[in-house]
Amino acid sequence: QDDDLRRVISHAKEYGYVFQSSEIYDGLSAVYDYAQNGVELKKNIREYWWKAMVQLNENIVGLDAAIFMHPTTWKASGHVDAFNDPLIDNKDSKKRYRADVLVEEYVAKIETKIEKEVAKAAKRFGDKFDKEQFLATNQRVVDYQEQATTILKRLGKSLEKEDLADVKKLIEELEIACPMSGSRNWTDVKQFNLMFGTKLGASADTATDLYLRPETAQGIFVNFLNVQKTGRMKIPFGIAQTGKAFRNEIVARQFIFRMREFEQMEMQFFIKPGTQKEWYEKWKENRLKWHLSLGMGEENYRFHNHEKLAHYADAAADIEFRFPFGFKELEGIHSRTDFDLSSHEKYSNKKLQYFDNDTRESYVPYVIETSIGLDRMFLSVFSNSLQEEELENGTTRTVLRLPAVLAPTKAAVLPLVKKDGLPEIARKIIADLKWDFNVAYDEKDAVGRRYRRQDAAGTPFCITVDHQTLEDDTVTLRHRDTMEQQRIKLAEVKSIIAQEVDM
Ligand code: ATP
Repeated sequence: QDDDLRRVISHAKEYGYVFQSSEIYDGLSAVYDYAQNGVELKKNIREYWWKAMVQLNENIVGLDAAIFMHPTTWKASGHVDAFNDPLIDNKDSKKRYRADVLVEEYVAKIETKIEKEVAKAAKRFGDKFDKEQFLATNQRVVDYQEQATTILKRLGKSLEKEDLADVKKLIEELEIACPMSGSRNWTDVKQFNLMFGTKLGASADTATDLYLRPETAQGIFVNFLNVQKTGRMKIPFGIAQTGKAFRNEIVARQFIFRMREFEQMEMQFFIKPGTQKEWYEKWKENRLKWHLSLGMGEENYRFHNHEKLAHYADAAADIEFRFPFGFKELEGIHSRTDFDLSSHEKYSNKKLQYFDNDTRESYVPYVIETSIGLDRMFLSVFSNSLQEEELENGTTRTVLRLPAVLAPTKAAVLPLVKKDGLPEIARKIIADLKWDFNVAYDEKDAVGRRYRRQDAAGTPFCITVDHQTLEDDTVTLRHRDTMEQQRIKLAEVKSIIAQEVDM
């Protein structure tokens, strides 16, 4: 698992996707920069989301609210009082952990034990192996499962009751039962607020305390009535937004999965109270469909329905993705009731109600939220696409099978040799294509090596210009995924690629 993630990180650097921030100063923890290819992939993901949410839905409009907001916003939203994570330090190793994540890591260790038992049995029984039955009847496995569920239940209960002493006790017990951190000398568990504070104003005594927004959603809530009135929006309708959010995360590992500065893509859907169940189910289904449309494998997604709900929610689920380190949250779908709008009404003393023309009634709408991290989506796409492939001739190739619609560069144009007028034709093709999509030019090295370079960079198509092109105006179109080559007319290049990349 660690090796898989390491491969992803080093490939992302080598091919100009993601760099560590301030690398020449040894980096800044959990902050990353998107490089020449990364910025394109990120933009394409954002646009793919925007198109599905805003462009294709008549009743969803966009917004770009500021990162700074009036400080009372965060009182009303609950972030000042409740946006905490439980933190614990190991006194010997001086390592800091998020207590709940640490417990989950112990549980993951137990799950690995189960997987090992399953693999062993599968080997032993061969064709006759029935996994479901094995999981239900093998005593050792049943015990492990029971252990994992009990631990998670106890964690959930202790966190709910804010019984931080019990969380510490649980960690101490786990460390004895299945040693992982290597030492048993822990501090007490403390609550740690994740918001970054800053100041607005020049002189120290008049400056106002501000927060960098920890989520984009509140910008939508405070603008709800402005958008509804000026856009003459009728319920149900949605407001969508993408933008930076900041969280002072306690544990910052796993590359761009958990960052301190990241980007969210959120949509708040305003509905009539009482219809939340129906809309919640609709958005769950809708969002999963969006993910599946990228063709990254149905088996890599699953829902996780929350039992323990946040203070603002009456139902919540995550869409989890199989990252290199296991299934983890990629997107959240939350039924937030009227918590946010009602709370902003209270704190601002302004009415945030919708007037229903048909029933002549005013009410505070309920909200269904879909919230996805752009960087996390980037990691899911990138890690899933990175593959080592055995070829028929015994060699291997590294290929980044990005969905064509998201690939930073759609095609590379390659003159077979650097003479005989071939580079000039290649340049002409580029001059024609570049108005419609990103294209690259490459004339260095043998053409086979250039193909491999483009495979590893994620470019779905190569267009090769050779001597036959001079005679009949055809080129070779080479497909990244199948390595298939087809001869096509120069005049068809643009339309064929446009069709393949869904444009
Ligand atoms: P987690 O449990 O992983 O901390 P969360 O439940 O706090 O996440 P939400 O507040 O629901 O996350 O945020 C919505 C989405 O924003 C998440 O599904 C995730 O994709 C993304 N996200 C949240 N925190 C981060 C982060 N630190 N770095 C990158 N993406 C993040």
